[in-house]
Amino acid sequence: MADICVASHHSSIAELLADPEFHGLANREGFLVELRLDNYSDLSMAMLDRALRVFGPRTVVTYRHPAEGGNNPKASDSERLSYLQYAADRSVRYVDIELRTPDLPLFRKGDSKLIVSFHDFAPKKSTDEIAIPAANLPAYRVADVMKFAVFPETIDVTRLSLKSMAAAERDRASRPKETREKRTIDICMGEAGMWTRILGPVFGSPLTYARGEGAPGTAPGQLTWRELDDTYRFRQIQPGWPVYGVIGNPVGHSLSPLLHNTAFRELGIPGIYVPFKVDGDPIRFVRDFAPDLGLKGVSITIPHKEAVWGEIAELDTLTKNIGAVNTLSYRDGKWHATNTDAIAAADALEAEAKSLAGKNVVILGAGGAARAAAFGIKARGAEIFVLNRTRERAESLARACGGRAISFAEMRSTKIDAIVNTTPIGMHPNVDASPLEKDQIPKGSIVFDTVYNPLRTKLLNLAAERGCKTVEGWTMFLGQGIRQFELWTGKKAPREVMEKAVLNALTQRQAKQK
Ligand code: NAP
Repeated sequence: MADICVASHHSSIAELLADPEFHGLANREGFLVELRLDNYSDLSMAMLDRALRVFGPRTVVTYRHPAEGGNNPKASDSERLSYLQYAADRSVRYVDIELRTPDLPLFRKGDSKLIVSFHDFAPKKSTDEIAIPAANLPAYRVADVMKFAVFPETIDVTRLSLKSMAAAERDRASRPKETREKRTIDICMGEAGMWTRILGPVFGSPLTYARGEGAPGTAPGQLTWRELDDTYRFRQIQPGWPVYGVIGNPVGHSLSPLLHNTAFRELGIPGIYVPFKVDGDPIRFVRDFAPDLGLKGVSITIPHKEAVWGEIAELDTLTKNIGAVNTLSYRDGKWHATNTDAIAAADALEAEAKSLAGKNVVILGAGGAARAAAFGIKARGAEIFVLNRTRERAESLARACGGRAISFAEMRSTKIDAIVNTTPIGMHPNVDASPLEKDQIPKGSIVFDTVYNPLRTKLLNLAAERGCKTVEGWTMFLGQGIRQFELWTGKKAPREVMEKAVLNALTQRQAKQK
């Protein structure tokens, strides 16, 4: 099992010792605290001793070299090493020393393990820009763990770390059990590399670095220890676990990791779901990363849903007609593409309408969500009317799905059973906007707003005042995720806990926005 190492961001040891969050971590199984000696204004052997008495064998001690992000430019190699030797003599869990440090093989690590590390904080656009020093063989030999931390600007560059992690794990697994000790930590800093901070244990990495809650972190892209522990169940991940993820740009706000990891945890089955910020070609990402990553399923979000997924995946008929994909599943040696948004939109409306057959449904909007909703609801036998700001787009979608474009005036003279808003009108921060005035909402209709931030939109409130039944947008988000989970795992998704997790997160997000 891998540990979560929470990096001390404090400017003195006294500050660290006064921090209740870090005290709480000192005795928690599976957690380590990284002491960054270069950060501490009150550093002395006596103060280090005080810190080690509290954090004891649960410490990673480092005195970062100034050329690798260290904050004490005056510290000489011999001064740094003397502090690290002091820590090793007190049997801390790990001592971390930079690969560039001379005489590393002479370091007496004793009962501590030695991390030999390399850090480069300059953002990289290409793998060619990453120059890890040529193997310093004696240093590699004494290391228990090799750590490489680089800063890719794009996800493509993180492939270097993926290759390195996969090769290290293959090598480790091929050795006899008793000689499998040497491990690798490959970290890509920044948002593009966030996945490397979560998936390390899939490749046998012994630990990842996290920040304290509310702390700035000691490197870009660090998650909090609670996110790693609660959302990603980091300490349970085992080598070889199947990997799933969402690809999009941005993906930082996505609730999909919470949704899917909650389900994996609840069912107690292997599987880890992470965000991939893909800024380039999403098809190339899946093709290049899938084999080494062990990728088994992918959620696709903005702006990649309309990529030409047919190049690598088999599309079902509904998905072909929609022209957008939100789910890839790897089965029987190939990728299958589908659109669970369409099914979830129809399910959400049908749950309230009981049956959609023969019902007249107005879709507000003609973008990606509108296409999914229109085709999904049409497939259940409803008549589709598309009302959109740009009339030509409404006509084009109506033609494609066998429906009709409609105007506000025409809507008044047509019997409407349900309305589905797929425009972003009413979404945070424009919470006082609504795509329809109260008197434009047909009495007796069901109003479904796909917007779910806020949970209750202005449109839904107006509809309720008009006596209409309403359907909230989160039900569609939940539904598309449940369909994905079931497709990937072949198991019944634990709807109740997934719903609770999503609603909690949305409620908290909404409270913060106020
Ligand atoms: P999109 O492709 O950009 O389409 C947006 C549509 O809304 C277009 O038809 C656009 O009209 C119309 N629109 C935008 N701003 C408007 C305005 N101020 N007045 C009138 N019409 C306006 O976006 P999308 O991917 O379909 O997503 C739309 C919304 O759906 C999102 O904001 C999200 O809240 C929701 N959604 C929800 C879920 C869910 O699971 N609940 C899933 C996906 C999407 P024009 O054609 O005239 O530009």
